[in-house]
Amino acid sequence: MGILEKMRLDGKKGFVTGGARGIGKCTARAFAEAGADVAIADIDLDEAKKTAKELSEQTGRKVIAIKTDCTIKEDVDSMIEEVVEKLGGLHFCHSNAGICINAPAEEMTYEQWYKVINVNLNGVFLTDIAAGKYMLEHGGGSIINTASMSAHIVNVPQPQCAYNASKAAVIQLTKSLAVEWAKRGVRVNSISPGYIGTELTLNSPALIPLIGQWNQMAPLGRMGKPEELESICVYLAGDTSSFTTGSDFIIDGAFTCF
Ligand code: NAD
Repeated sequence: MGILEKMRLDGKKGFVTGGARGIGKCTARAFAEAGADVAIADIDLDEAKKTAKELSEQTGRKVIAIKTDCTIKEDVDSMIEEVVEKLGGLHFCHSNAGICINAPAEEMTYEQWYKVINVNLNGVFLTDIAAGKYMLEHGGGSIINTASMSAHIVNVPQPQCAYNASKAAVIQLTKSLAVEWAKRGVRVNSISPGYIGTELTLNSPALIPLIGQWNQMAPLGRMGKPEELESICVYLAGDTSSFTTGSDFIIDGAFTCF
């Protein structure tokens, strides 16, 4: 069997939080193109349904939508039950939902801080633990968390201390779970994207004026596209990454190199 065949996800079942749009939609499409059945687990059910229909039509795979707020334990637990019931198992997940609030540290309210930490860190914790528990009891699996290059550097000029702190914590959570579960067949890795063109970046009034500046600072002279994160996620979800756990993959066009 050739390497591309070995990388396929035929027969595997997985879900993507924040999969209704942006990076999550793209990785969900890639998982389905690689042969997996996928659930779009998103707080925005209408958008998740549209995405599930679109991806199902494009790929011919089973793609379902499940309303999930990743900050609510009951939501996450019942989403996993529904994935297992409707798709027939759970072999991988992409814990990807995230938000960003930009504010100078001294002006950031506790509510703003908590909101970011709650989605970006607590949401990943709840998702990973619920998925991990199932995988530990059912032959193992692969968990992919979305961190950010903001876990590694402090972005300028936009101040975003809560976001940066939440994403750094995601990487350390990833490594902790990877070590705890290594001998029991559950692998946990993270991706750290640089600036990627999605709703989060392209349609945020606070960020639009900064895009030109980011592009000037970027060694490649541009933002990334969600599609440029697909192949690493398919690799991590599948069996050819069996020796890869506890790793963080920075995909930022060398933005953090200097
Ligand atoms: P996006 O805003 O386009 O999409 C985020 C999705 O998450 C949306 O569908 C939204 O409905 C969903 N969501 C938000 N809160 C949720 C919750 N509580 N429960 C479930 N779903 C929820 O964002 P994106 O750019 O695609 O970002 C996806 C991930 O990648 C985030 O974790 C983000 O921090 C990270 N990231 C993005 C960039 C970038 O430049 N776009 C860079 C590095 C990391």
